[in-house]
Amino acid sequence: MEIIEDRQALATYLEKNVPGEASIGFVPTMGALHEGHLALVRKARANSSLVVVSLFINRRQFNNLDDYEKYPRNVQADLSLLETVGPDVVFLPEEDNLFRGVAFPVFDLGSLDDRLEGKFRPGHFRGVFEVLWVFFSLIRPRYVFMGQKDLQQCAVVEKLLKQHFPFTTLCMVPTVRDKDGLALSSRNLRLTPEERIKAAGVSRALLSAANALPGMAWTQLRQDLLETIHQAGFSSEYVELIQYPEFSMEQRYKPGSLQAICLAYYTESVRLIDNAWVKSPLSAGLFS
Ligand code: AMP
Repeated sequence: MEIIEDRQALATYLEKNVPGEASIGFVPTMGALHEGHLALVRKARANSSLVVVSLFINRRQFNNLDDYEKYPRNVQADLSLLETVGPDVVFLPEEDNLFRGVAFPVFDLGSLDDRLEGKFRPGHFRGVFEVLWVFFSLIRPRYVFMGQKDLQQCAVVEKLLKQHFPFTTLCMVPTVRDKDGLALSSRNLRLTPEERIKAAGVSRALLSAANALPGMAWTQLRQDLLETIHQAGFSSEYVELIQYPEFSMEQRYKPGSLQAICLAYYTESVRLIDNAWVKSPLSAGLFS
């Protein structure tokens, strides 16, 4: 496992080590790694000849500076975990090194920027675009592996790939959850033990709602989810039924389209998001 900190050094390494038909699998992360991240790297390992993982806390995608400052950092622990799943390269750049001299092209996020995560985290997806633009231009991956946990980010990335990197395919990996249902997240480290138990209850309610939707009214399920969040003592930001990848907001179950329930809420100490595919013939076929 090669650790590379410099943008130019990574370009040189890839030039030397990627023969014509080799496929690069890329896994961007912000560190504080857990089993969810490792699932992405394992998938990349199984499907690509050379695997690059980045560890970079991208300040540009934090709309809240406090969240950036409190973001967990533990590079040594991350590297030890990565050793167990065997990427070829870990890219660990400094901000200056990564962005120096970069000119960004036009990228229109369209309506993805004015709803759900786009609405509640202004500038977030612009920051995601900027870092991914630099990574993709540098690494030219055949596949990029990202988690369903950040479903709207996946939609943004599909749009970015279509517009600027048609050679690269997004592989979306299902959300890895703890036994109690809570989606693994680096931010879970900031939950109190009590908040953690209650957050797992919200995730279980979300999963049940996604299963129940085909036979129930969305307005009722939405109301029940909001109540679950509030009864846990949390503040809801949104609970929406969306169609993927447009993120159009839906009012009812549509068996012929790919729908997900997405939610975001605040505990005392942290903001959490989660989502689940609505069970339908289409989602069962695509994402088991
Ligand atoms: P982050 O380090 O939070 O930016 O996440 C890096 C990648 O890991 C993103 O593609 C996330 O969607 C993905 N990821 C985060 N948590 C999980 C999870 N619980 N299961 C699967 N993928 C995840």
